[in-house]
Amino acid sequence: MKLGRLAGSAVLITNGGAIDVARASGGRFGPDLDGIYERWSEFAAWADGPEATGAAAEDFDEAALEAPVGRPRQIFAIGLNYAAHAAEAGLQPARDLVVFTKFASSIAGPVSRVPLPTGTVDWEVEIVAIIGEEARRVTIDEAWDRVAGLAIGQDLSERTMQLHGQTPQFSLAKSHPGFSPVGPALVTLDELPDRDAIEFGCAVDGQTMQSGNTRNLLFSIPEIISELSRVVTLYPGDVIFTGTPDGVGLGRDPKVYLQPGQTLVSSAAGLGEIRSELTEAE
Ligand code: ZN
Repeated sequence: MKLGRLAGSAVLITNGGAIDVARASGGRFGPDLDGIYERWSEFAAWADGPEATGAAAEDFDEAALEAPVGRPRQIFAIGLNYAAHAAEAGLQPARDLVVFTKFASSIAGPVSRVPLPTGTVDWEVEIVAIIGEEARRVTIDEAWDRVAGLAIGQDLSERTMQLHGQTPQFSLAKSHPGFSPVGPALVTLDELPDRDAIEFGCAVDGQTMQSGNTRNLLFSIPEIISELSRVVTLYPGDVIFTGTPDGVGLGRDPKVYLQPGQTLVSSAAGLGEIRSELTEAE
């Protein structure tokens, strides 16, 4: 199943187009995504059933898709979770999970315009997991069952603020408006050939900058969920940015940052692509 959002309403995305969830379910689910994540297993069963699969799909404009998240209670992001990225940042790979947040106001849709507040904004393509079932002290083996699905994300990062102070300022420097695009849709795990080995990457104006595979995560998605859930309760609809591979602009010599007028395209096998148009500061 591919679950997206158009004009605030949940839609199932099929080869034939978009199916409005609220209409097709006679009001049982939707239109908002929060209620769907709260009743994820019930919804997933409905989406596989005849009422949903037999519903008429309508053409839609892919550029109009919004982020497939509702109002997440928590957004987590993981740092230094690929060894080659830690090395390019001049740091040791994470031995303990490195966790920060991206504030909810930074969430953007899969096709979006992102104003650059400074000349030192960097890309970080990541695979994003969205929680479907509450998770508290779950084991690694139980963790995938708590995931509704995956999407592509960018953990856009303003490096000057991030690195300026005595300690890194991850959360704020990575939460400017538009700095957390997610999409194009939530894709359920059964749609993926291998949920533990997803190829992904990003390109600036057609030039590949990052290419990675989630099989190289230092903390796998189930390990992240298990580890987080030892401390906090994960709620349906919560969002986890799982870490970026090497190839960010900060790690280059000389360093390279995003410029107004450029287009950043982030893609992943089986998940699609998202597109960020960088613009002048607002
Ligand atoms: Zn990141």
